[in-house]
Amino acid sequence: MNPIARITGFCALAVLGLALAGPGRAQTADIILLHGKILTLDERSSIREAMAVSEGRIAAFGSSMDIMKLAGRKTRVVDLRGRTVIPGLIDSHIHAIRAALSYSVEVNWIGASSLAGALGRVREAARRAKPGDWLIVAGGWTPEQFEEKRRPTQAELADAAGEHPAYVQLFYGWALLTPAGLKALNIATDADVPPRGKLEEDANGNKTGGISGDTATITALFSRLPSPGFEQRVAGTRAFFRELNRLALTGVVDPGGFGMAPRDYQALFKVWQDKALTLRVAYTVFAQKRGSELEDYRNLTQLLPMGMGDEMLRFNGIGENVAWGMYNNDSPSDEDKAQFYEIARWAAGRRMSLNMHWHNDRSVGQLLDIFERVDRETPMRDLRWAIAHLNDASAATLQRMKALGVGWAMQDALYFDGERFQKEKGAEAARRAPPIKTALRLGVKVGAGTDAHRVASYNPFVALRWMLDGKTVGGTALRGPEETPTREEALRMYTLGSAWFAHDEDRRGSLVVGKLADLAVLSKDYMKVPVAEIGRIESLLTMVGGRIVYAADPYAQFEEGIRR
Ligand SMILES: [Zn+2]
Repeated sequence: MNPIARITGFCALAVLGLALAGPGRAQTADIILLHGKILTLDERSSIREAMAVSEGRIAAFGSSMDIMKLAGRKTRVVDLRGRTVIPGLIDSHIHAIRAALSYSVEVNWIGASSLAGALGRVREAARRAKPGDWLIVAGGWTPEQFEEKRRPTQAELADAAGEHPAYVQLFYGWALLTPAGLKALNIATDADVPPRGKLEEDANGNKTGGISGDTATITALFSRLPSPGFEQRVAGTRAFFRELNRLALTGVVDPGGFGMAPRDYQALFKVWQDKALTLRVAYTVFAQKRGSELEDYRNLTQLLPMGMGDEMLRFNGIGENVAWGMYNNDSPSDEDKAQFYEIARWAAGRRMSLNMHWHNDRSVGQLLDIFERVDRETPMRDLRWAIAHLNDASAATLQRMKALGVGWAMQDALYFDGERFQKEKGAEAARRAPPIKTALRLGVKVGAGTDAHRVASYNPFVALRWMLDGKTVGGTALRGPEETPTREEALRMYTLGSAWFAHDEDRRGSLVVGKLADLAVLSKDYMKVPVAEIGRIESLLTMVGGRIVYAADPYAQFEEGIRR
């Protein structure tokens, strides 16, 4: 051992001694991780070999030999065998609470590389389902991911689903139903389909089972499917969060979503009360009724001050739809803007965080004008307001955001939608979308994420790969090297960067003594594996606050029983 390592080891032990020195408490750790490559993401980007966890927090780093000395009779010892450990990933913009509600009754096609395999998942679900249960694929896939490069036919879906009614949605523009599904929803002609929707026909005029339409059509169609009961919602929440743990996620920042009313949070609250949350959730209130948004916020937050909650579940303000008049609207009226201003001013006065969905750089100035006006009257720059999406953000916009302390929640939407973006805005615009490096250079707070689900996959490793190679799911490389971050920068955005949006970067997001022990042991070395393989990385062991919430071989025996 060289002298420097010896000194570091000694200091680590000294820190641990302090951390564990309590009356009558043995100086041993709860869990130690040895012989690894621990990417701490501390200020010096240190890589450590071993660490100790005690009472949910990181207690020490050092050589494996030093850390081994902290093992007592009850200490669990995880031999990393050279594997890479990262701080737990945090998605800064994911509709996780909503996705979880229906997860236990859905089939997902995320990661299926062939249509045959995807249909196999439907067949498998049909085998487990009770008579009359629906089989629902609610998005998160594209034909481009399949070897066959096409959508399923109705006959194929019906063959896989058997007796069960089945529904498969593609983005927000198309859905396929089996004959049993069409019958269950009483759909026979175009008149039975939600507005602007059409039953598709083949060249011979035969109905294909496909329904095309716009976002409103498909959303309305989806809402006709039976909604899961409370027990299913609770089961779905547990199962979905565990699925996110499998992919190294230990936290989410959740921006509400279409149709998310207060009653839709009850399953989440139940899981929290049962102490069964395996993921830290920071959640915001979405605009409720058009016209009474401010009144709704006032009512809903009277007993819910900003930051209310604990380390697992915390109230994080309002958004991503703050007011319907400004939502997805490039030319809001003066009235819309006045209403938004009133709400924003109220939020600033209540020291509330606010996050807003915005799609176009060309119209975002209207939002920033309002933010600047509010800031002049009620300073909001330390309240961590944020704009989500904005894939074509200009440097000027990012500068205004930086000046206001407004963060940017950035997602891999262009992984699925890059070709369309390129067609619409041109190759030059696609080369710099989203402008990740420019934002970092300007010092804007950037959080990474997926905007899952229904449209996007929630897999953070797919998003990380896309951040590094700019390639769409179809394999087209769009973003140029000038807007491509390094592997470490991408990882920092997915950890510390996202933690900022939950006011939590001092508590988690990096592996530093005293911080919460949120981490994941990876199946492959994120820093070394070819970029193309990053999308296939999984967690082998995920820890949240020192609790092992997910573990797979060779660590399966470490998973702690959470009452299910
Ligand atoms: Zn959004």
